[in-house]
Amino acid sequence: MSNPFNQPPPLVDYNVFESDAVLKESLEREGAAWAQDMVSELGGLAGTQQAIDWGFQANANPPKLRTHDRFGDRIDEVEFHPAWHELMKVAVGHGLHALPWREPRPGAHAARAAAFYVWSQVEGGHGCPISMTYAAVPALRKVPRLAAEWEPLMRALDYDPGLRPASTKKGVLFGMAMTERQGGSDVRSNTALATPTGADGGHHLTGSKWFCSAPMCDAFLVLAQAPGGLSCFLLPRVLPDGSRNAFHIERLKDKLGNRSNASSEVAFDNAWAVMVGAEGDGVKTIIEMVNHTRLDCVIGSASLMRQAVAQATHHTAHRRAFGKLLSEQPLMVNVLADLALESEATTILMMRLAGAFDRAEDATEASFRRIGVAIAKFWTCKRAIAVVAEALECHGGNGYVEESILPRLYREAPLNSIWEGSGNVNALDVLRAMQREPDSLASYFGEVESTSDPRLKRAVEEIKQEIANSAEIEFRARRIVNRMAVALEASLMLRYGDPVSAEYFCASRLSEGGGQMFGVLPKLDSLKSVIERHRPRFI
Ligand SMILES: Cc1cc2nc3c(=O)[nH]c(=O)nc-3n(C[C@H](O)[C@H](O)[C@H](O)COP(=O)(O)OP(=O)(O)OC[C@H]3O[C@@H](n4cnc5c(N)ncnc54)[C@H](O)[C@@H]3O)c2cc1C
Repeated sequence: MSNPFNQPPPLVDYNVFESDAVLKESLEREGAAWAQDMVSELGGLAGTQQAIDWGFQANANPPKLRTHDRFGDRIDEVEFHPAWHELMKVAVGHGLHALPWREPRPGAHAARAAAFYVWSQVEGGHGCPISMTYAAVPALRKVPRLAAEWEPLMRALDYDPGLRPASTKKGVLFGMAMTERQGGSDVRSNTALATPTGADGGHHLTGSKWFCSAPMCDAFLVLAQAPGGLSCFLLPRVLPDGSRNAFHIERLKDKLGNRSNASSEVAFDNAWAVMVGAEGDGVKTIIEMVNHTRLDCVIGSASLMRQAVAQATHHTAHRRAFGKLLSEQPLMVNVLADLALESEATTILMMRLAGAFDRAEDATEASFRRIGVAIAKFWTCKRAIAVVAEALECHGGNGYVEESILPRLYREAPLNSIWEGSGNVNALDVLRAMQREPDSLASYFGEVESTSDPRLKRAVEEIKQEIANSAEIEFRARRIVNRMAVALEASLMLRYGDPVSAEYFCASRLSEGGGQMFGVLPKLDSLKSVIERHRPRFI
């Protein structure tokens, strides 16, 4: 044996995009074949040792807060390791923060989703400011004057860090600050106050935010109570005259994961801000942003699953136990194939949703997007946690060791489910969509009833019965949304997935009690082909 210690070669020097058949097919299907070269180039970079090293370095050297300079003056800055800046430079340079706004052509959101998914496999934390900048644009567009001022800088491909007036920068990044100590999901309990300045049409904000990620962004969309109710504001970190706005970073959160990214507590001490949208319409305005960051939670979860499955299928194809490769042991085949099915369904769903963003001028697509994002956010974020844990176990002890990347994926996984509406809040949002926007439910059924598979038909009938019964429906929201998500994934797998994978997906997930654990597929036939479809290859 040429490998006496039975250790697999590291998964490096592979193209993260080219070795992902599901993503490649989805990119084309969703009308973004034109972006293939860009995503492939990014995929090549994502598989290099250098990019992988940046991911590890940025997490091993988390950001540091510097509240004051040596003279005791407040500066409220966060210092990042150079690797963070390299990751950001690539992300911004490839337009992951703005592609659809730069190139508003069919398939632009799908192209951006594919690129974000590929590059997030290197490192998840820096995706936070990238995602928030992408998502802030539709909210800002509610005020054409503000959009005209800020959007050209938000769309630029230049990563230009540092706190300076926007007019002197080549590109800017945006964050958002909604969550306060007394309530995050319930944003209407916000107490940050906005008082009109009286002079320049602006407001002065006082109060604090309990979570504010990426505080080195150039500007934030903030919720605060104006005289006319909860409103949305644009708060720049540096004022046009070059002085620092009174946005004070109190401390950085010591987080479970997402360690490369700074998440902070901030206080506003008469910070200057300008209103976005109508007074009292804060939630309605910022929800535009949240819709897009929720899509990114789905993309982030798909990306975590894909990286975990790539690592697991690679590792087990090289590691032997009891006289065989692990990937040939029947029970391991069952686990790997089951994980691969989940990853495939999630990738197709994420791309289908991104495609709905592209086609949102069509009323049915807009309705599907409304409910589809909430369903997918609820389910895929939960499944990512389980997939990563199981993929980690496929590595045995090696998976529990930091160098394998699996611990980092594992710590990152629960976050997508928490922010932008935690699990229950998303499940309840699905109910809200059904009640207030019945077209969204109709578009959902249009999607899941587009195939004739009898198992899916039965599952859809059961969902209809669940929904028709309004008694204690809130109590049953998770059960309903879980079923809706699996039926949606099944219908997408039947139409667009690998036929063998689709068959197994339906056989395992549409039966009562199915899909609760990985590695319980009903028979062995053809499962190796499912795994091979998902195993990355060296260049
Ligand atoms: C790393 C990190 C970074 C973050 N960055 C930002 C940021 O940049 N900007 C920002 O504004 N926020 C940010 N957040 C905050 C995040 O969005 C909130 O934590 C989240 O929205 C939940 O709010 P909460 O923490 O107040 O929990 P709560 O609102 O107290 O909710 C606690 C639990 O109760 C559930 N729950 C709430 N309401 C109901 C209900 N009616 N029925 C049943 N269950 C319910 C929730 O689903 C959740 O599971 C960040 C959070 C983290 C962890």
